[in-house]
Amino acid sequence: MPAERRPLVAGNWKMNGLKASAGEIGAVAQGYDAALAARIDLLVCPPATLVCKAAADVAQSPLVIGGQDCHAKACGAHTGDISAEMLADAGAKAVILGHSERRADHHESDEMIWQKAEAAWRAGLTAIICVGETEEQRTAGHHHAVVARQVRGSVPDDATPENTVVAYEPIWAIGTGLVPTPEDVAEVHGAIRAVLAQRFGEAAQGIRILYGGSVKPDNAKALLGAADVDGALVGGASLKADDFLAIARSYL
Ligand code: PEP
Repeated sequence: MPAERRPLVAGNWKMNGLKASAGEIGAVAQGYDAALAARIDLLVCPPATLVCKAAADVAQSPLVIGGQDCHAKACGAHTGDISAEMLADAGAKAVILGHSERRADHHESDEMIWQKAEAAWRAGLTAIICVGETEEQRTAGHHHAVVARQVRGSVPDDATPENTVVAYEPIWAIGTGLVPTPEDVAEVHGAIRAVLAQRFGEAAQGIRILYGGSVKPDNAKALLGAADVDGALVGGASLKADDFLAIARSYL
């Protein structure tokens, strides 16, 4: 991995966590010691209700807090939605966009995710743009084409290594305990890098590509050691500070 691509381990809490769970984020901040902070970036994305408290709680730590989605507009008549500006105001520095659960549950299209990424940048947030194929698409051998189409359709033209992270999350691996081999992951990440290079030239070498899907302490080293893998997007195992930190420490 080129020196400029600093690894990122990001936790996606999804719709989990009450005020009482904020202690886990404090424990992550505690465990994110100087050795780890010298090596990798660490991010936790709790539900929106906890962003403000979490960001305040970890203000003295290099641990960063993010959101899990944002609306494309800055404000307006959009009941129940949250804008990128609101997340930034609450202390978030990044936002996950286009997670497969949002693509499925909320019918989010590539075009919507593109607009949300531009909204994230407008508010000064890093956009973590998720892509990934279904089991049927993988079995049919269409995964490269699907992922390439998603990257072309949801990563906006002004993406840079500073404002954008891509997360490859095969849907069949999310929350299932099934994982692709490190070789399979490297192959898809290489294909994503090639699509980014067609779009962004040399800058594509600096854009981080995370792997997500059943990353656990016992498989992290192999998955994160694969070529072109610049970190992890972690769901279930990010809910416990010990597990999340154990994944992060696979870089030490
Ligand atoms: C996710 O949903 O982003 C994810 C990777 O979940 P899990 O780690 O639980 O598979």
